[in-house]
Amino acid sequence: MNSDILWDILIVGTGPAGMGAAVNARIREKKVILLGAENGSDRLAKAPEVKNYLGFPEISGKELMDKFIGHAVGAGAVLEKGRVETIYPGDEFTVVTRDNQLYRSRAVILATGVQQARLLPGEKEFLGRGLGYCATCDGPIYRSKEVAVIGETPEAEEEVNFLAEICSKVHYFPSYKKRGLQVDPRVEVYKEKPMAVLGDKRAEGLALPDGKLPVAGVFIIREVAPAEQLISDLKLEDKSIVVDRMMETNIPGVFAAGDCTGKPYQVGKAAGEGLTAALSAVSYLDKKA
Ligand SMILES: Cc1cc2nc3c(=O)[nH]c(=O)nc-3n(C[C@H](O)[C@H](O)[C@H](O)COP(=O)(O)OP(=O)(O)OC[C@H]3O[C@@H](n4cnc5c(N)ncnc54)[C@H](O)[C@@H]3O)c2cc1C
Repeated sequence: MNSDILWDILIVGTGPAGMGAAVNARIREKKVILLGAENGSDRLAKAPEVKNYLGFPEISGKELMDKFIGHAVGAGAVLEKGRVETIYPGDEFTVVTRDNQLYRSRAVILATGVQQARLLPGEKEFLGRGLGYCATCDGPIYRSKEVAVIGETPEAEEEVNFLAEICSKVHYFPSYKKRGLQVDPRVEVYKEKPMAVLGDKRAEGLALPDGKLPVAGVFIIREVAPAEQLISDLKLEDKSIVVDRMMETNIPGVFAAGDCTGKPYQVGKAAGEGLTAALSAVSYLDKKA
């Protein structure tokens, strides 16, 4: 079981920032796990050529990413595919993934990249009050009730199918390019784009172009979950994680690096911040020991 191992440093995100952190934490002989995407970073993989990363004047984003992965894994970091949903602080951190895997770690580095999603009106207001980002985690609250799911990635279909098993009705709003939806026949699929989450004290429905759809709960499934959802009380400014020069966040034992800490969104900055975050995490652990 994952939770049998206590990691020294768990890194959320497998882009240049996460890999930079992993390599440097491994050089300091820490037990390191990276959770994220198998290909490292979708963003970097999309760059046809990167011309400004020192030492590699002519390289594609994908080639550079493959080198980063090879370096980090070669240095002994464990890389696992997984989408982190929640991080619970404590004497040690408990990290829960979308598929309900549990990990334990003594320090955490957030390297989740930039949040590109535009939030729906009402989304922030009702988060945790009838609106959630993880159907596997919160679905049982809506057992035998009607829910709506807005899916921005095909991964959402798995969550929709899980909800179809336990809810009285699932209304599904996929917003990605559909190549044959794989959803339970009980699910009602819509072409419309919801315009807002409606409610008073809790989310009570969605605003659609032709009126209101009342539901007991709303789920929004995105490729990247907003940083504030990962760990409560994490300090943000303009959607970026607030860090000091040592990449420390406002939560002891939690560090952040890369695009998620703000502009400029560049590979060199991400890798460098990953290095600093790793060194700070190592010094935090050494002081605790
Ligand atoms: C088309 C394009 C061209 C670019 N060209 C250049 C260039 O020429 N030069 C340059 O310097 N930069 C370039 N960039 C920017 C560069 O790609 C980014 O600055 C860099 O990838 C940031 O690294 P990062 O590790 O901070 O974040 P990312 O590369 O975005 O990696 C973050 C990773 O974390 C994962 N993640 C997020 N949330 C979670 C979670 N909850 N659980 C698990 N995993 C999670 C994401 O899936 C992603 O894999 C370009 C970007 C694009 C899109």
